[in-house]
Amino acid sequence: MPCPELWFDPARILIAGRWLPADETLPAEDPSTGAPLARIARGSAGDIDAAVTAARAAAAGDWGRTAPADRGRVLARLGRLVADRAEAMARIEAADVGKPLSQARADALALARYCEFYGGAADKLMGQTIPYPADHTVYTLREPHGVTGHVVPWNYPMQIIGRSVGAALAAGNACVLKPAEEASLTALAFARLAQEAGLPPGALNVVPGLGPEAGAALAAHPGVDHLSFTGSVGVGVQIQAAAAANIVPVTLELGGKSPQIVFADADLDRALPFLVRAGIQNAGQTCSAASRILVQRAVLDQVTDRMAAAYRALRLGRAMDDPDVGPLISARQRAMVQGFLDLAPDAVLARAPLPADLPPGGHYLAPALLGGLGPDHSLAQDEIFGPVQVILPFDTEDEALAIANGTAYGLVAAVWTADGARQMRMARHLRAGQVFLNSYGAGGGVELPFGGTGRSGHGREKGFEALYGFTRLKTVAAWHG
Ligand code: NAD
Repeated sequence: MPCPELWFDPARILIAGRWLPADETLPAEDPSTGAPLARIARGSAGDIDAAVTAARAAAAGDWGRTAPADRGRVLARLGRLVADRAEAMARIEAADVGKPLSQARADALALARYCEFYGGAADKLMGQTIPYPADHTVYTLREPHGVTGHVVPWNYPMQIIGRSVGAALAAGNACVLKPAEEASLTALAFARLAQEAGLPPGALNVVPGLGPEAGAALAAHPGVDHLSFTGSVGVGVQIQAAAAANIVPVTLELGGKSPQIVFADADLDRALPFLVRAGIQNAGQTCSAASRILVQRAVLDQVTDRMAAAYRALRLGRAMDDPDVGPLISARQRAMVQGFLDLAPDAVLARAPLPADLPPGGHYLAPALLGGLGPDHSLAQDEIFGPVQVILPFDTEDEALAIANGTAYGLVAAVWTADGARQMRMARHLRAGQVFLNSYGAGGGVELPFGGTGRSGHGREKGFEALYGFTRLKTVAAWHG
């Protein structure tokens, strides 16, 4: 059944302000039912080339000459349009990603908020004057890179487009966006609204298509001045190699194996909902999912029992029925997660019930809480990208740190303890781009710089910090005697 909420033709490509038909199309599927939803464009290397050319013209033309305050106004208008259409955007995302409706609504409002935040920041990005011998005046200019390429994944399309395209536009870049083939519809909706908001032709170009085709062509294009990639480690390696070949900067937002660390003195009533939600949100397909729960042995039984009870009470269902947990994005993703679970069938402590009336074509997998595994087990080391959490016991603070820091990733971490000095020690020594103390935000708010270390990637998006990444610094040194 076609997606009922679409107010536009989804099989088009946006280049230079024109919605062009594609030579070939790809199916978009509803993960809740497995039914076809729409057809989207299968953009080619030629389409990417045309999009980069259009972006270059916009960067050198109308958009590049737009005053920062006016760029900000366009983004602010876009934010209001997204907020006005938030319900429709959320329903499209729920259908396309299988994301429970209230989580999709939160993503739509986050997209609006990114536009509002970066709209407000556009005219507040300043250089510095630098003390130097008195016969000189030295200052810095923050300039846009020019053309920025954005390759985004399917799990949080609206949030990731907001944080990368929003910041890049605010800084004065012209963008080429390649959404994920599994979930391109809200990228297209967003681009329609951007036109309505007055974004000039070419400032945002959208070319849906396959990763190895349109994605690889964008990453390798010599006309792109900066690459922003969010996705898997394997593809991140290829993107960085492509960026290296053209010697352009790249931001990589990759995966994670984020820990939440629960000490015996923690406020468990507050912690418990955060522990579970950070594992099952978006069916665990979240880069900052808290997939490892480290628990001090004195409260191990209590935390395990309470998390197990919460798992048994989870409601699975179709995204549109707004359950706690929806389907995974695809049959392939489901098989991958099941493959991980098959590594240790005896480790399952609790699973959510699978309702008998789930649509047979949907990609459902009952969330699983695991225990009794060592911290070096694959299930405690590798990113699973599904609704699976592993409980790992510890005795001392040092042991907690060693386990928490003992993976190849370093994206987000949380510490639950009433001891203020311990909070500070842990925050300092945890290997992560974000640390939450007695809280967890799965990536945090729009305002909070976000990104990883190790195999979680490098560079920061979100917050004001992102604007530094989407600009380059020029130093001007003037001798005046
Ligand atoms: P993926 O790497 O397969 O795909 C991401 C994007 O890259 C898609 O648009 C895809 O079409 C494109 N792509 C694929 N092959 C390509 C190639 N050869 N050249 C250029 N582009 C190519 O990732 P995914 O499966 O869509 O997403 C899941 C992964 O993303 C997980 O590892 C997850 O942790 C990570 N992720 C990270 C963050 C973060 O902010 N750190 C956020 C969301 C997802």
